[in-house]
Amino acid sequence: MANRNNNKPQVGIGACLVGHAVRYSGDAKKASHVLRKLSETMEMVALCPEVAIGLPVPREPIRIVENAEGIHVKDSESQTIDYTQPLKDFADKVTTEHQDFAGYIFVKGSPSCGYERVKRYNDAGNALANTGVGVYAQQMMDNDPLLPVEENGRLHDPILRENFVRRVYAYHEWKQLKQSVEVVTLHHLTQFYARYKYLVMAHNMTNYKTIGRLLSKPDNQNPQRQADQFIELLMSALKCSATRKGYSNALSHIKGYLKRSISSTEKVSIDEVIDQYRTGDLPLIVPVKLLNHYFNIYPNQYIGQQTLLIDSIIPARAGF
Ligand code: SF4
Repeated sequence: MANRNNNKPQVGIGACLVGHAVRYSGDAKKASHVLRKLSETMEMVALCPEVAIGLPVPREPIRIVENAEGIHVKDSESQTIDYTQPLKDFADKVTTEHQDFAGYIFVKGSPSCGYERVKRYNDAGNALANTGVGVYAQQMMDNDPLLPVEENGRLHDPILRENFVRRVYAYHEWKQLKQSVEVVTLHHLTQFYARYKYLVMAHNMTNYKTIGRLLSKPDNQNPQRQADQFIELLMSALKCSATRKGYSNALSHIKGYLKRSISSTEKVSIDEVIDQYRTGDLPLIVPVKLLNHYFNIYPNQYIGQQTLLIDSIIPARAGF
């Protein structure tokens, strides 16, 4: 594993998305403002699996061919040269060598790097429904099912982008925790979760309750199992799109920590702002800033560490 000096999350990305002229056509994809912005808060590691397995630039395009024997990536012309295993092997190598990865940005439509809706063909070369997944991308996801992944096109949607960034940061912090201790104990889990509690509440109430039960007592026989269950629940909760209703509920709970500090008039004003956010009349940043304003005056150590309040005021991450 490479040693790094900065604390940005490391994210794998299709090399053609960040200016490398490695596509079959010999060029790169058009530069993207969104990816440039994201690279300010993440360390992008550019990888091109097709070049890595020895294919030249430019090259004949390859395609997904599906038949009774399974899914393969083959040359488009004759559909006889099979690149499936080398692409899977390269994914295994990347997983082993980049254990710091906290996310991956795949490439729309690619038979190697596509995340969804990739074109597929049958043995006769006829097009099937566009429901394929790139072979390299699939292997990367199989190797680490919790790895936050997205596709370049989908990152233009602010809500999907916000969701991806949150998951990347959470997974990055989790990997840092795992590297820093020999065994992740219940104490570590409780401390870690303290920062995510209200974010999880906003995203997925069911997982919020399940995590609460999971962390109510130690699994002395198998702390590893408890840690694995915890991170699976946390990552799957964050993967769900948060709703305005979910966020409003979490913000109202956070407001509860001010009950002894502020007047009833101030409480009503906060409730009004949260409600205007809930009904879509205000963006999330408004109630978040208002709550941050009050917690600056009346600091609360527990609320001060909530990622829901901290992350939402970082412009590169804000999406709502
Ligand atoms: S989509 Fe993947 S395999 Fe194709 S050029 Fe880009 S990085 Fe290389």
